[in-house]
Amino acid sequence: MELIFEKSRPGRRAGRVPAYDLPVPELPPELRRGSPPRLPEVPENEIVRHFTALADRNFGIDTGFYPLGSCTMKHNPRVNERVVALPGFRDLHPLQEDEGAQGALELMWELQQILAEVAGLPAVTLQPAAGSQGELTGLMLMRAAFADRGEHERNVIITADTAHGTNPASVTMAGFELAKVATTDRGNLDLEDLRAKVDDRTAGLMLTNPSTLGLFDEGIEEVAEIFHERGALLYYDGANLNAVVGRSRPGDMGFDIVHYNLHKTFSQPHGGGGPGGGPVAVRAELEPFLPSPTLVRDGDVYRLDHERPKSIGRVRGFAGPFGVFVRSYAFMRAYGPALKEMSEVAVLNANYLLARLRDVYDLPFDRHCMHEFVLSARTLKREHGVTALDVAKRLMDHGIHPPTIYFPLVVAEALMIEPTETETKERLDEFVEAMRAIADEAATNPERLKDAPLTRPVRRLDEVKATKQPVVRYSFQRAGAVDRVEAP
Ligand SMILES: *Cc1c(COP(=O)(O)O)cnc(C)c1O
Repeated sequence: MELIFEKSRPGRRAGRVPAYDLPVPELPPELRRGSPPRLPEVPENEIVRHFTALADRNFGIDTGFYPLGSCTMKHNPRVNERVVALPGFRDLHPLQEDEGAQGALELMWELQQILAEVAGLPAVTLQPAAGSQGELTGLMLMRAAFADRGEHERNVIITADTAHGTNPASVTMAGFELAKVATTDRGNLDLEDLRAKVDDRTAGLMLTNPSTLGLFDEGIEEVAEIFHERGALLYYDGANLNAVVGRSRPGDMGFDIVHYNLHKTFSQPHGGGGPGGGPVAVRAELEPFLPSPTLVRDGDVYRLDHERPKSIGRVRGFAGPFGVFVRSYAFMRAYGPALKEMSEVAVLNANYLLARLRDVYDLPFDRHCMHEFVLSARTLKREHGVTALDVAKRLMDHGIHPPTIYFPLVVAEALMIEPTETETKERLDEFVEAMRAIADEAATNPERLKDAPLTRPVRRLDEVKATKQPVVRYSFQRAGAVDRVEAP
């Protein structure tokens, strides 16, 4: 009994004193509350049920198949979490002096080396927190480089009409004018259109390759020549790098600046806005402009270099998203040279799905795909009034996350599907069966597709309102009761 009722004494345990046993400095009386705060009083089992019920309503890569095109939702190996939780990484302080963080800086250095190798470009910054921030950083680098050369008239960035929405947004945010180049029937950039648009005011091109259509641009070397001849630069949006790692390098294709989405290509739990990592690699000529500080190695010592007169400055606080670096590093080191196989299997899986679905959905660009492909539900719409949105919503009843449907804008009723390399053939076959069943249903019972999803905690939402006016109020009574609608 003594052990239970004995009052806990600070420093009782020999050796380490837990943080909660350390003396806490007293707050000055004028800063203390006069009465306890009014917080809901809830037994532990009820609060656990509350959060478990909420978690059960969630859908993630750990719950089921998540073929979201362009965003690469692959499995995140659990060993990454073990590595990032090692005390040497976990307990670092963001303001730690360089001397006390040599291991962390070494990891960042090695990560930079691996990324440079993947892109085929020599200099890397790890600062940007996401692909979109990498885009902004890359455009700022272009601006700084042209200003340095005195070429102030270069103010136009060209993007593809298949581009992800962040591309035009970044171009505008960085103060450039936006021009768009058309896509040919084969899904390549239209070279004639491009030649007509590139001139002395062109700062550069921003392109994903393979594109958001999942197609590798067959004219990429010619594209690079058109820009370089005019002194303009090429920016590679690396969101689709999962298709080419170890097989081809953006630097060899002619790109001058590249961003990586560590959270897409190099495994990182993401979704719902983060956390992410968007390192940027550049050609040697652009290195002086990289965000400050840069990481340098003097012999065996690593340090952050703040003496960077031409730098565009900081784009993110501290050293960047360090936990993301550790996970991606662990992932790449675990794969080693087999990273190449990652991309090969991603491409194989996508082509398998394409081959098994092309007879029931339209295929606007009839070519082998890379890591993703875009189908269209336009025939279902014309014949049965069923849209890509209806197909996507019905997939939820099959326990599958909907594919991307809002872009590329060049495909009407687009269904952009990316299975990734981490799925088994059985999973892929289940998806095929679900997609085929939905196409059948479109012919026999289109009304039911209009009502889908029928088995989820919520039905069709006003998605704009859900974003603009989210209801996040605490309601304990409702938490446990998930109102279920059974599948007909
Ligand atoms: C995801 C994505 C982006 C933006 O990257 P974030 O890391 O989400 O900011 C840009 N382009 C393409 C093609 C993408 O898929």
